Amino acid sequence: MTTLRPGISGLTPGELAAWVDSQGQPSYRVRQIADAIWNDGGVTDAAEIRTLPAPVRDALARDFRLDTVAETEIRLADGGQTEKALHRLDDGALIESVLMHYPARGASRERHTLCISSQAGCAVGCPFCATGELGFGRDLEVAEIIDQARLAQRRLAASGRHLTNIVFMGMGEPLLNLDRVLAAVEALNDRRRFGLGARHITVSTSGVVPGIRRLTALGPQFTLAISLHAARDALRDVLVPLNRRWPVAEVVDAARDHARVTGRRISYEYTMIGGVNDTADDALALADLLRGDHAHVNLIPMNPVAHTPWQASPMAIIELFAATLRQAGIGTTIRRNRGQEVGAACGQLAAERTGEPPAPTVARRRERLESESAAALRGERSHEPLPVGVGE
Ligand code: SAH
Ligand code: SF4
Repeated sequence: MTTLRPGISGLTPGELAAWVDSQGQPSYRVRQIADAIWNDGGVTDAAEIRTLPAPVRDALARDFRLDTVAETEIRLADGGQTEKALHRLDDGALIESVLMHYPARGASRERHTLCISSQAGCAVGCPFCATGELGFGRDLEVAEIIDQARLAQRRLAASGRHLTNIVFMGMGEPLLNLDRVLAAVEALNDRRRFGLGARHITVSTSGVVPGIRRLTALGPQFTLAISLHAARDALRDVLVPLNRRWPVAEVVDAARDHARVTGRRISYEYTMIGGVNDTADDALALADLLRGDHAHVNLIPMNPVAHTPWQASPMAIIELFAATLRQAGIGTTIRRNRGQEVGAACGQLAAERTGEPPAPTVARRRERLESESAAALRGERSHEPLPVGVGE
């Protein structure tokens, strides 16, 4: 990759101060620049920073990119309540972010939640996920992660609104781009930068145990979501291949520690796949696993993804599954996926752009998934190797 000027939002306060100093500028310029970057999502062009003298504006433009997601295409769904953004990054990589508006209801105020990407593609390869199907592209830079949030904030600020929640549920496995994601999370939380409360920032992971532990060690009360999808190892090996490295028990242990240290309830995400992970036995296994925990389960009907033999469980089955969990005292919500009509499931827009794989590849893939999931249902562990890039 050619070396690009760094994105300015990825600088730590110390790095920005050092740059101002290197320009022979007084230290109050640091605050002026920071205000311009962060207030209401900030500017995208140094020329707009009117508080700065022209030579400083020129120097900023020479040394940094003020926006790393400038090339963005937005599509609306759900009658405008969902805004799906496809970003083409400076090296051509495609990523997505989704802004969801939730009107005020009863005592709860209106919310504006942004779902952001941490990588282009993903190495974990969960077979029901469009991003997993794309494979791994590259890690996002800190600024590329943050600028998705700055863009949404700017769009909201234009109509007097502001972002209330950020979830790392777009493309990529956040905790496999750990250092950059933690730096982005700190910037999003920092009062002097993006300034969103830790409780309003959710990191979703397929179960990178050392990453969960580092997030916990940061201190603030970030919300943790665990993409579980199966409580039994044999099945989870197939649905979330990372399970072969960090099995269910280790993931849940790390999540419990996060709940204990931060006081935050853990969200468990469970995509309901018809005839695969939705049986009465699966519900009981999940109830046994989480009974007594400070946890909440979200059941998500699987979004249709090309090239899988699977589809969402019927609603009656999902209701039964939820009832079993509730009987065990586990808070459970059935979610409807937003933005299906524009392909808002994880990675689907980018997958569309990349085009169809050849038919024999699709057929082989379906066959493999069918036999693997059948074996898993018989309780056999998979002998497939770990996906490339996650076996370190
Ligand atoms: N890699 C991280 C975060 C991104 S995925 C993770 O896996 O947690 C965000 C969520 O979308 C995960 O819970 C994932 O399992 C879910 N997901 C992916 N594809 C889906 C599909 N086709 N239908 C429903 N949920 C899906
Ligand atoms: Fe990666 Fe998450 Fe998709 Fe699995 S569900 S392939 S971890 S993005």
